Amino acid sequence: MTTASHHDVIIIGGGIVGLAVALQIVKRFPRLKLLLLEKEARVGQHQSGHNSGVIHSGVYYKPGSLKARLCVEGARAMLEFCRTHGIPHQICGKVIVATHKEELPRLQELQRRGTANGLTGLREIGPEELHEIEPHASGIRALAVPSTGITDYLAVCEKYADLIRQQGGNILTSTQVTGLHHLNSEVVVESDHQSFTTKFLINCAGLFSDRVARMDGGDPDVIILPFRGEYYDLVPERAGLVRGLIYPVPDPQFPFLGVHFTRRINGTVDAGPNAVLAFRREGYERTNFSLYDLSSALTFPGFWKMAARHWRSGLDEFHRSFSKAAFVSALQRLLPELRGEDLVPGGSGVRAQALQRDGLLVDDFQFVPARRMLHVLNVPSPAATASLVIGREIVEQCAEGLTGSSTLLTRGRSLGD
Ligand SMILES: Cc1cc2nc3c(=O)[nH]c(=O)nc-3n(C[C@H](O)[C@H](O)[C@H](O)COP(=O)(O)OP(=O)(O)OC[C@H]3O[C@@H](n4cnc5c(N)ncnc54)[C@H](O)[C@@H]3O)c2cc1C
Repeated sequence: MTTASHHDVIIIGGGIVGLAVALQIVKRFPRLKLLLLEKEARVGQHQSGHNSGVIHSGVYYKPGSLKARLCVEGARAMLEFCRTHGIPHQICGKVIVATHKEELPRLQELQRRGTANGLTGLREIGPEELHEIEPHASGIRALAVPSTGITDYLAVCEKYADLIRQQGGNILTSTQVTGLHHLNSEVVVESDHQSFTTKFLINCAGLFSDRVARMDGGDPDVIILPFRGEYYDLVPERAGLVRGLIYPVPDPQFPFLGVHFTRRINGTVDAGPNAVLAFRREGYERTNFSLYDLSSALTFPGFWKMAARHWRSGLDEFHRSFSKAAFVSALQRLLPELRGEDLVPGGSGVRAQALQRDGLLVDDFQFVPARRMLHVLNVPSPAATASLVIGREIVEQCAEGLTGSSTLLTRGRSLGD
């Protein structure tokens, strides 16, 4: 192992959040020596490159939550970023469709939340107007959300990385962080082939963020559960069934949005994702299994409390994972003309969802300060949409630690002290 190289700030994780944080730091503190470490050969290879590509507008989130504030502002910033840097994007709009009477109060609640979050143009519509927007969708009422868009988040990640490098930041790929410890006033970061020291560390390791947070002996009080989302693609000759984005009314007890139709920026249409507990943290296939990952989930105190609360929806999701007929039937509620042969298996993604000891799935974004570190422990959807402002928010939270850590700016103490 070579001798340690010294940095002012190290970021672990080259997903969209780690990159957005790094981009914000190189802009705001150009004199800090910044290093971002990513275990894969390229940036954006996990959640950030395996998502639905939707620029969410902020209709779902509890007014006053970080998600609500950062999504609404983040969507504007993302659109502006895509425009400025020539990244393909489109504001195609979305309809959230109620198919049963019991969903109507929840649809109204979504409209109330969206309005409170500052969205404009939200409209509750009836079947006729729904038919004008999405001629093949069916429902008793719907919420039209005209500001929702789509983009390619892998292209966004690559552009963030280019800009970081152009502004003097260093990104080291194929470098997996394996250990952390404190030495004097620094953090020693060990990787599979080199060690580094830093005055401040920001953990944006996504599906592994809880493990990274435990590396120096700390206890973040949550565990990351991996939820795989599987997609089907509409065969090209049936892609015309969907113009934009068609979503169901989500179950408020569950942090995921339910299987939906998404027109991608490349013109294809996919259906999904469902949400099944994955038996490996980066388990993109049903057969992927890790005894360590599974046993650490099953032995976490909150797991069985969560399972007791969500077992019914969990079983439904598993059933849909193994039965195409069940998946199709969930989708036919939104699009009755859909047939099994219209769908072919598509990709999958694995969401990192933090679970508390009391069995609650963490709903809002969660950034946890520790000594000379900040752990980003829960940044599920809409974190890709909101990434630019999440980066700004995190840097704001760490500013004192970052500037305190600089050899050039000596003010203040670090966050963890
Ligand atoms: C199926 C699915 C659909 C989604 N749809 C949307 C959507 O439409 N719109 C939206 O806004 N959001 C969506 N999201 C959410 C969004 O994709 C995530 O919130 C976002 O990508 C999280 O980014 P991240 O940087 O935290 O995580 P990641 O992209 O997972 O990045 C974490 C990185 O850390 C690296 N890493 C981990 N451990 C180490 C280590 N020890 N050393 C070095 N590197 C390490 C990993 O290799 C990885 O690259 C979706 C997510 C999924 C999974």
